[in-house]
Amino acid sequence: MDSVTLKANAKINLGLDVLSRRQDGYHEVKMVMQSVGISDTLTFTRTEEPGIRLESDDRTLPADGSNLISRALSLIQATYGLEGGISVSLQKRIPIAAGMAGGSTDAAAAIHAADRLYHLGLSLEEKQALGVKLGADVPYCLMGGTALSEGIGEILTALPPAPPACLVIARPPVSVSTKSVYENLRLRELERHPDIDGMVESIRRGDLKGIAQRMENVLETVTIQRHPVIGQMKAFLMEAGALNALMSGSGPTVFGVFEEERTAREAWLAMRERGFGAQVFLTGFVA
Ligand code: ATP
Repeated sequence: MDSVTLKANAKINLGLDVLSRRQDGYHEVKMVMQSVGISDTLTFTRTEEPGIRLESDDRTLPADGSNLISRALSLIQATYGLEGGISVSLQKRIPIAAGMAGGSTDAAAAIHAADRLYHLGLSLEEKQALGVKLGADVPYCLMGGTALSEGIGEILTALPPAPPACLVIARPPVSVSTKSVYENLRLRELERHPDIDGMVESIRRGDLKGIAQRMENVLETVTIQRHPVIGQMKAFLMEAGALNALMSGSGPTVFGVFEEERTAREAWLAMRERGFGAQVFLTGFVA
């Protein structure tokens, strides 16, 4: 086997709480992560020539050693003393710098691919120990599905798949720096915290309405203030019949959760017509 093709799914946060800021600057979080049906496609091929070559259909992405795919492959090659090289072709479909872990999920795919191409037989835990060196979301991306994420994102509890739902996901054309959002979060001034434990119970019960009721993200306090369009998009999704709507991660992507496919489809069309950004998706949860 010289070549492997993998799909790397994006994630949303059904709930996101920040508990504290650690001495080292990292934040302790408590989040519910959920894979969704927006994915990049990556093909990895072993080459005799050493080094990593990356080719992408998205010219805005770095194709050099700074890309998370290259960093993941270099790390695994160095850790296990692997010989030869790897060429990668990336079809980018996940919105970039959008709060959907696009880079982290590509890095996770690279770790899975190298494990298979070199017959390393790594366990999920071994892959996650490598992944956390690349980014806090990579350990989750290696498992995917529905999960509770704690610590700085590295303490993971797999949850049963969330009940089926339709999602309208839209990325407005504004850019957000994750670092700056966390830095500007006024933790002590937060009036309320999301009920993440209640959401986990709702997931275990398969209760979509219970999940929707508890959708909250404390980072909205920072990002919506800077980009009111995010609040407008949430309101638009609610008016279009969503059970609830929320910003994912540090934003700016917004998603609405719908019970019925027909309502979701209409909302998706309406959002596109309204001109809320070029990237509007109709999709669902992925287990
Ligand atoms: P998160 O939800 O984990 O905060 P994000 O969705 O906000 O992630 P990414 O799409 O991962 O953000 O992109 C963040 C930055 O990482 C971008 O500025 C991009 O240039 C860089 N990057 C490096 N490698 C990749 C990759 N393979 N895919 C996307 N972005 C990458």
